[in-house]
Amino acid sequence: MVNEKMRDLGARRSVIRELFEYGKKRKVEIGAENVFDFSIGNPSVPSPDAVNETLIRLLTEKDAVSLHGYTSAQGDAGVRRAIADYISKTHHAKTNPDLIYLTVGAAASLTVSLTALLQPDDEVILLAPFFPEYRVFVERTGARAVPVLCETKTFQPDFAALEAAITEKTRAIIVNSPNNPTGAVLTNESAEALAALLDACSKKYGNTIYLIADEPYRELVYGDVKVPYLPNYYDSTIVCYSFSKSVSLPGERIGYILVSPTAADAVAMYQAVCGAGRALGFVCAPALFQYMIPSVLGMTSDISIYDTNRKLLYDALTEYGYEVVKPDGAFYLFVKALEPDANAFCEKAKEQELLLVASDSFGCPGYVRISYCVTTEQIERSLPAFKRLAATYGITK
Ligand code: PLP
Repeated sequence: MVNEKMRDLGARRSVIRELFEYGKKRKVEIGAENVFDFSIGNPSVPSPDAVNETLIRLLTEKDAVSLHGYTSAQGDAGVRRAIADYISKTHHAKTNPDLIYLTVGAAASLTVSLTALLQPDDEVILLAPFFPEYRVFVERTGARAVPVLCETKTFQPDFAALEAAITEKTRAIIVNSPNNPTGAVLTNESAEALAALLDACSKKYGNTIYLIADEPYRELVYGDVKVPYLPNYYDSTIVCYSFSKSVSLPGERIGYILVSPTAADAVAMYQAVCGAGRALGFVCAPALFQYMIPSVLGMTSDISIYDTNRKLLYDALTEYGYEVVKPDGAFYLFVKALEPDANAFCEKAKEQELLLVASDSFGCPGYVRISYCVTTEQIERSLPAFKRLAATYGITK
C-alpha cells in the first residue's frame, strides 16, 4: 500500500505540466515552430554573464573537495552574510545572517517555511489568483488553504474579503508580488493596509499571523515600478526567495528563506525552519550554486526582452478585443477567457495551436494565463492565431 494522497499528486500532473507535456508531443507532430507554447514559466533569456564567469572561477580556483562538500545545513556562513548585507543595503532593512536559510529554490523555501509553521487544522490564506502549488504545500501539512479572491480590476487584495476570511485558526498568509499569474505588484498602499490588518487580527486573536512573501519575481519589474519589501511593513514576515527567475536558473535549484529579525519568535521560527529542512531531508542547498550567490545578488537576465514581449502581447490582445490585466512585473499575462468556462476556451485555443493555461487551479476561474518568457519571434508569429481565436467568438477588430 502506498500513501494515496501522494500517489494522487504524482499521478495527476498540474494543469500547467499537463499542457507542457501536450506541447512537447504536439511539437513532434507538427514542428516546434507551429506550436505557440505559453504554458510554463521557464525563462527564455540566458543568465547574466556573471553566473557562468563565477561558476568557472569557482571550478578552477576553489579546492574541489571543499567546493563540492556539504555546507552547514542552513548554508555557507559567508554566503548568508553576503545576502544579509545586500538586503540591508538595498531595502534599508534589519537582517541577520543567522536568520537566513539556503534552499533549493522558492518551492522548497515555501514547503520548509510552511512545515516550520503549521499544525493540522491551521488555516493559511492564499490571495487568489495564486501559484497552484501553494495548495499542495499547505495541505501536505494537514492545514487548510483558504483562498481569498483579489479585487479583479487591479488584482490588489480585497481587504473586506480578507478580513472576513481571517479566523482564530489563521496562521499565515502567502503574498506573491510580482504575481504569478497576473503580473500585479502589491502597491505601497496595499502593503500598508495589509500590515495594519494583520497586526489588528493578530492582536484580536492573540496569535501571530505570519506573512509569507513569495518573491521569485522580485527583480522582474518594468518601468519605474517598485516592489515593497514586506518586512519593512510587517514585522512577522518570512521572505521566500529564489534565483530561478531573476537570473534564469530554474533547473539549478537555489534560493533562500529570510526570517525577519523583527518577526515574533524569530529565533524559534528560524530553528523550526532548520528543523523542517532537516525533516524534509534537504541536508543543504547545492554548494556550487551557494558560492555563486554573492556575485549575482540584485542582478537580472536581460529583462528588456520580457518587456518587449509584454508590450507586444498586451497591445495586440487589447486591440483584438481581449480583456487583459496590464502586468507590472513577472512574465505572465492574465487574460479574460472569451467564454465563461476557461477550460473550454483553452480547448478552442488549442485548435489555433495556442497553449494557454486555464485559471481554475489558480483559484480564479474565467481567465487564462500566458507565460510570455518565450522568444519575441514566437510572440510575433502567434498574434494572427490570437486574432483568429477572437474571430471564432465573433470578435473582429
Ligand atoms: N512561487 C511562484 C509564484 C512561482 O511562480 C514559482 C515557479 O514558477 C515558484 C514559487 C517556485 O519557484 P522555484 O523554481 O524557485 O522553486
